[in-house]
Amino acid sequence: MKLARYAANGVIRIGRIDSTETRIAPIAGVEDMLDAIARADDLRSAATDDANACPLADVTLLAPIPAPRRNIFCVGKNYRDHAREFSNSGYEAGAVKGAEIDSHPAVFTKPANTLVGPNDVVQLHSHITSSVDYEAELALIIGKEGRDIKREQAYEHIFGYTIVNDVTARDRQRNHKQWFLGKALDTFCPMGPWIATADELDPENLDVKCWVNGELRQNANTRDLIFDIPSLVATISAGLTLKPGDIIATGTPAGVGLGFNPPKFLRAGDKVSISISHLGTLTNTFQ
Ligand code: MG
Repeated sequence: MKLARYAANGVIRIGRIDSTETRIAPIAGVEDMLDAIARADDLRSAATDDANACPLADVTLLAPIPAPRRNIFCVGKNYRDHAREFSNSGYEAGAVKGAEIDSHPAVFTKPANTLVGPNDVVQLHSHITSSVDYEAELALIIGKEGRDIKREQAYEHIFGYTIVNDVTARDRQRNHKQWFLGKALDTFCPMGPWIATADELDPENLDVKCWVNGELRQNANTRDLIFDIPSLVATISAGLTLKPGDIIATGTPAGVGLGFNPPKFLRAGDKVSISISHLGTLTNTFQ
């Protein structure tokens, strides 16, 4: 099931996208995505308001969870080739400098002010940074609360998946010797265009692609994650209660702007598109 938050005729709704990805119908009685997550068990049989169904092309898709109750959890350096390009770039933050592949996942967060949706403008913040970069990532959405979740039970806690762009100001990441400030700026977390529920896909075999102005920059598969999804859920939930609606971004593959020599950072007017199998395409313009 593909679920989207969208605007049509001035009304914001949660709807179900059909299997051909051409029509969307609002789900009766579901106000927002957290409602949908709470009703996960009966969502498939929930009635759609077919009188208000319309072509997907006629609606404005919005960030599926526009105001998460907590920071977005993110994982750094989780694809080998990206870990290598990061190590060689000179932009690596002090706390994780050194080995190309770490023995434990690097986890940081992005605050809720970073969230924007498909086709929203991402601000370049040129008064404080000149090295804004893109990071295409698979994100998972927690469906069932849990703490100290074991690897074997991890998938039982996942509601679904979506795309995020973990936008990063590399100079702030480097200069402040941590990852938060460079990743926390307003609009720095585009998300969408929809959530596919966990039964829709195999998260360990999804193609992840990213284009800048039509040029393919990132092209990988989630099977190459260093720390797989069960490991990430187990690590982050150790002593920390994960709650429905929490978002975990799983890391970006090689091909980000800092990996080029010289680096290819984003400029005003650049368009970044990210596609992941079953999850559609997330496009944003940078200004
Ligand atoms: Mg990232």
